[in-house]
Amino acid sequence: MSDRIDTREDVTVETAGSETGGAVETAGSETGGTVETAEGVLAGVGAYRITSMETHDIRFPTSLELDGSDAMNPDPDYSAAYLVLRTDDGFEGHGFAFTIGRGNEVQTAAIKALEPYVLGRDVEDMGTLWKDMVHDSQLRWLGPEKGVMHMAISAVVNALWDLKAKRAGRPLWLLLAEMSPEELVELVDFRYLTDALTPEEALEILRAAEPGRRERVAYLREHGYPAYTTSPGWLGYGDDKLRRLCKEAMDEGFTQIKLKVGADLEDDRRRMRIARETCGEDFPIAIDANQRWDVDTAIAWVNALAEFRPHWVEEPTSPDDVLGHAAIARGIAPIPVATGEHVQNRMVFKQLLQAGAISYLQIDAARVAGVNENVAILLLAAKFGVPVCPHAGGVGLCELVQHLSMFDYVAVSGSLEGKVIEYVDHLHEHFVDPVVIENGAYVAPSRPGFGAAMHAASIIDYTYPDGPVWRSLNG
Ligand SMILES: [Mg+2]
Repeated sequence: MSDRIDTREDVTVETAGSETGGAVETAGSETGGTVETAEGVLAGVGAYRITSMETHDIRFPTSLELDGSDAMNPDPDYSAAYLVLRTDDGFEGHGFAFTIGRGNEVQTAAIKALEPYVLGRDVEDMGTLWKDMVHDSQLRWLGPEKGVMHMAISAVVNALWDLKAKRAGRPLWLLLAEMSPEELVELVDFRYLTDALTPEEALEILRAAEPGRRERVAYLREHGYPAYTTSPGWLGYGDDKLRRLCKEAMDEGFTQIKLKVGADLEDDRRRMRIARETCGEDFPIAIDANQRWDVDTAIAWVNALAEFRPHWVEEPTSPDDVLGHAAIARGIAPIPVATGEHVQNRMVFKQLLQAGAISYLQIDAARVAGVNENVAILLLAAKFGVPVCPHAGGVGLCELVQHLSMFDYVAVSGSLEGKVIEYVDHLHEHFVDPVVIENGAYVAPSRPGFGAAMHAASIIDYTYPDGPVWRSLNG
């Protein structure tokens, strides 16, 4: 570990057993145990092993309110294929894959298939553990590195990072931001990347961002990380609700909003006009087509909305169509293209960047294979100088992805220019450590972990199909 940034929390894993270590309690293991930090947070010490993995199929009936409705997903039931890891010294790691309803049982089964990789392991060498799972000689046939299996790996990797951060007594963003450039490069699998980014270049990027880490941590603690809101713009909302939510977004201090488009051009023109009139001439309003269009349709449709000056157009076409995105970018310039929430792995992001197809890169915390692959993607974005504006919303995606953006700002790109994290005001009440938005910004998380843990009662109530909520809906 490099020097710790935050000297206020001076009791850490490394000091366990020393005179600064505080009370060490053993918890379930002969060699492992915990130590209380200066802030009263328990950190793990000594040897330990992961002893169990529990999975849950959790679904929220959001389709009843049309929350989350867009041109391609008219009736989502926001869901989480969820897992809990437990260690023999009393720590837990939580993670999930986000889905929108049907098929969540398939996603949950895919997570369960990874159980042999974690039982008996620890989280000391996350680079090796990641590569072991991603390159499993039989499971990789289900991808490779895409789709249900890759998302399952994402859920497990993120749960492992949640566990690692809790054991360290740190919020994930800070844990990552305190790692040395060499340690961070060790997390990344450079296979298939070296034509665009070598380990040496990654080290250079990270070393260049080392000066100023401490100041940027302090900045985040004081100001948070800028957010934009998608809440006004769901396609299923009426005009009055759109107008009211646009006003509320501005009143709450957000500096950007986003509208769903792509079902009907005249509706889009009317809704964009309402948003533009309500928010004013200079307020950034992005649009999101959720993959609705073919390439030529995208170019014509976006140009028909150009007078309302979209801040970006998001997911204009298939997330796999790199050349299509590049053609759209040329056809609608200077309106920028953004994509990423359905981009399946670092290789497709690499190609989008190489092709000059995107002006904003939208990582998702739970689609590619978790923290490690997102570190690779943040490094790619830094190399190409493209700002990262993460996708969030769904179930718990805001809770997770804020950590990655904050880490990016402190230790990778070193900049907030052009950057903003999506925020959607849904379902946060189910999380133990929900995001906090103040003045249109994400408040920097201070509790240990990755923010993925749901309340036990929510897990029970929304378990599909036998939890009480679903039994009463179907009964
Ligand atoms: Mg989107």
